[in-house]
Amino acid sequence: MACDAIQLAVPGVQGLHPYQPGKPIEELERELGISQSIKLASNENPLGPSQLALDAVQQSLRELTLYPDAMGYRLKQKLSAVYGVSAEQLTLGNGSNDLLDMVARVFLNPGDEVIYSAHAFIVYKLVSQAINAKAVEVPAKEYGHDLEAMAAAASASTKLIFLANPNNPTGTGFTAQQLKQFMSAVASTTLVVLDEAYTEYVDDDSLPDGLDLLAEYPNLIVTRTFSKAWGLAGLRVGFAAASPEITDLLNRLRQPFNVNIPALVAAEAVLDDQEYLARSVEVNRTGLQQLYKGLDQLHVNYIQSHGNFIAVEFKSDAMSVYDALLRRGVIVRPVGIYSMPNHLRVSIGTESENRRFLDALTEVLAEVLVE
Ligand SMILES: *Cc1c(COP(=O)(O)O)cnc(C)c1O
Repeated sequence: MACDAIQLAVPGVQGLHPYQPGKPIEELERELGISQSIKLASNENPLGPSQLALDAVQQSLRELTLYPDAMGYRLKQKLSAVYGVSAEQLTLGNGSNDLLDMVARVFLNPGDEVIYSAHAFIVYKLVSQAINAKAVEVPAKEYGHDLEAMAAAASASTKLIFLANPNNPTGTGFTAQQLKQFMSAVASTTLVVLDEAYTEYVDDDSLPDGLDLLAEYPNLIVTRTFSKAWGLAGLRVGFAAASPEITDLLNRLRQPFNVNIPALVAAEAVLDDQEYLARSVEVNRTGLQQLYKGLDQLHVNYIQSHGNFIAVEFKSDAMSVYDALLRRGVIVRPVGIYSMPNHLRVSIGTESENRRFLDALTEVLAEVLVE
């Protein structure tokens, strides 16, 4: 008898769609007959990893027969010293996506209400759907989170609210004042996850540092990652900071060895490389200005970004622009799944990568106009 596996799956998983990864670069190049293409599609750090992180990983390889430290003791001590959050408030994750999933699985029952914004990072929807929670997507305001509307949509029975600051793929941010008003309006029985994956890039003092607000709001969970400005996306490591009570619950569910040895030592080492962080942030700042200027010259619209990427807007379906850029060896990210079919998300690269994107776009727009 055939096994109808989908009928056996839990309802939330039955409704999920498989993740559609981009093709590997080599495969694309072979198909299109191109070479030397550049990837500005996943908000990765264009500088390559920190030398301190590389050295630490190299040193750690002789320990690969061992299980990693299940508590991540040394990394937590380091995080504690750098960020002023006690070790009992820290949960380590296999990337911050792992932590978002943990939060959902620790706190959500099927049918529980979860709130997030339109155009918000897709993982909030995925982890909520997997549990068959009741997701409420609140319309955005100029592509950013409408915190007033989100607070108004919440009730005492709302279990969880996801916020991204800055948000991916829009690059929008909200201020500390807006966040505090929001936290005051939301019931203390509602947990608020503040995803700060891009916080290191933020160049605007009005935006909050979520870690500063933990003492005031015991229902707040802040997530951070080493994947973006710290340049370690391939190793998968991030952390959540929250009250000791919430942290205890997250750690009950957490797989004991969820962060591997090279990831633990690289994250610990890179925290000592403030020079690398400063350089990453500076390359991003000048790259953003370079792209703004180039896009302005092309009369192309975009959303001002607090992150390491820009959502660029086209007059119609962006997929034709995406395809034409691809043929020129420039890989960017369509954001149709974010209900932004006319936008493409472009990660900030090195100066020469940004120049290549702008040159390719110039050609593409001329081509589209001629057609
Ligand atoms: C990239 C990103 C993350 C980080 O994911 P990791 O699992 O840590 O690599 C988290 N949140 C947002 C909004 C992101 O864009």
